[in-house]
Amino acid sequence: MSLLIEHVDLLDPSAPRAIARDQSIWVIENRIRRIAPARELNLATVLSEPGAGNIEVINGRGLFAIPGLVSAHTHSPENYMRGATERMPLEPWLVWLYGTCGEYTPRDHYLCAAMSAIEMLLSGVTASLDHLWHGGLWRREYLDATLQAYADSGIRAAVAPMYDDHDYVLDVADALGHDLRGSIYGQSHGGYRPDRDAYRRAVLEDTLAMFDEWMRDWHGREGRLQTFLGPAAGQLVTAECLHRSLALAQKHGAGVHMHCVETRVQDYCIRRVHGKTLIHWLADEGVLCPQLSLPHSVWVRSEADLDRLAQSGAVPVHNPAANLKLGSGLMPLRAMLDRGVTVALGVDGACSSDNQNLFDAIKLAALIHNLNHHDPSTWITAREAFEAGTLGGAAALLLHDQLGALREGWLADIVLLELNTPLLAPANDAYGMLVHCETGQSVRHVIVNGRVVVRDHRLLTMNVEALVAEFNERVEALPFRHPLDDKTKDDIQRCWRFWEDVMTRVVQGE
Ligand SMILES: [Zn+2]
Repeated sequence: MSLLIEHVDLLDPSAPRAIARDQSIWVIENRIRRIAPARELNLATVLSEPGAGNIEVINGRGLFAIPGLVSAHTHSPENYMRGATERMPLEPWLVWLYGTCGEYTPRDHYLCAAMSAIEMLLSGVTASLDHLWHGGLWRREYLDATLQAYADSGIRAAVAPMYDDHDYVLDVADALGHDLRGSIYGQSHGGYRPDRDAYRRAVLEDTLAMFDEWMRDWHGREGRLQTFLGPAAGQLVTAECLHRSLALAQKHGAGVHMHCVETRVQDYCIRRVHGKTLIHWLADEGVLCPQLSLPHSVWVRSEADLDRLAQSGAVPVHNPAANLKLGSGLMPLRAMLDRGVTVALGVDGACSSDNQNLFDAIKLAALIHNLNHHDPSTWITAREAFEAGTLGGAAALLLHDQLGALREGWLADIVLLELNTPLLAPANDAYGMLVHCETGQSVRHVIVNGRVVVRDHRLLTMNVEALVAEFNERVEALPFRHPLDDKTKDDIQRCWRFWEDVMTRVVQGE
């Protein structure tokens, strides 16, 4: 199969205003074969080339071609909880989430992933990394259901199931005299168990064995689906768990995705337990490497840690909307970029973000850091923000040098925007328009892995209306739609007190 987009303007950093006028893009199978001025590359010249095959032609006049956006951190199960919370920092918010999510069926996981895929594709996101959680122990059918939704939608996706084997925050809570161990906070998504950590360690063996088979079956399928491993967070895993995770990922050529010091509470607990920061600990354990992507990385502050990150090739993932909503802090984005760190962008789950629109994340990333720096020459440029949402995300997906820009030989994930609208006219500067004006509304056609999945603003792969109706119907059965029970309310209060205690200590410099 071959696809020719004729007479299109396209994003080209070397062109004036980063816009190359009147070009053609020729795609064979899932890769960009050639990009050239339309006068040189057209249907006649393509037909004269060997291997042209059947050619679908898209008239690109009035359209602007950009690489598909890559959302490098989300949690699809949170789609049920869109817009449901406010005014809660991460730790009490987690109690609310764990206490009210209930246990999903495979169909719930399918519906949630489908909602993410639909919103993303229609707004120009062609690839996503889903750090998947489940309220209970993992079973293969939950993982399969999520990947099946991504397979059906046509999006490119990596799914990284979350798991953990030791909660160091609970150790610190014990030491500070807070009883969180019997609370929902201490249970993750796994339901209450007094022997939580021992139990989780015991099932880790079986869980990893199941992931191994799942990865063998799915990794690389259709040339666009990947299986990653998702140890939940730096404060929730032992070194042994991390070593085993990395070894299993490497066996399959996959990546590891793990939350990294999102809050000051996490940073405090890790320093107190390990006697060093998370990045320092990961580096000493030898697991800080290019296969590792690290959502948030907000509290990576020392020169030494920033250097460790830069030397390692690990990819931090910036989630500005979630960090603002939960009041977690601002990632040191400028310091990372100045050291040559490749930074990706994510939207995070819909309970903390709440939409899945990466254009929002790109705009926030370009703007919010201005408040932290008095010298405007250090502010994040539109191009830096856009490239974090494309090339940076590709690195998190281990598709460095294959995805994230319109280049010959690279994967054909292409978004065609309408140029002649009040949103994008006049075409002053490509990066300025994409970052500060675009919202996803101009997305007209979307091509993923060489296949047209959105045409004229409509998704071709799924019955959107029927899926949304089923999704709305199902949500009524979930616990979070009903008044909170007394235990959840009480546990949220207990977690607030712990949070206030730790925040007082960190503000005092502990
Ligand atoms: Zn997250």
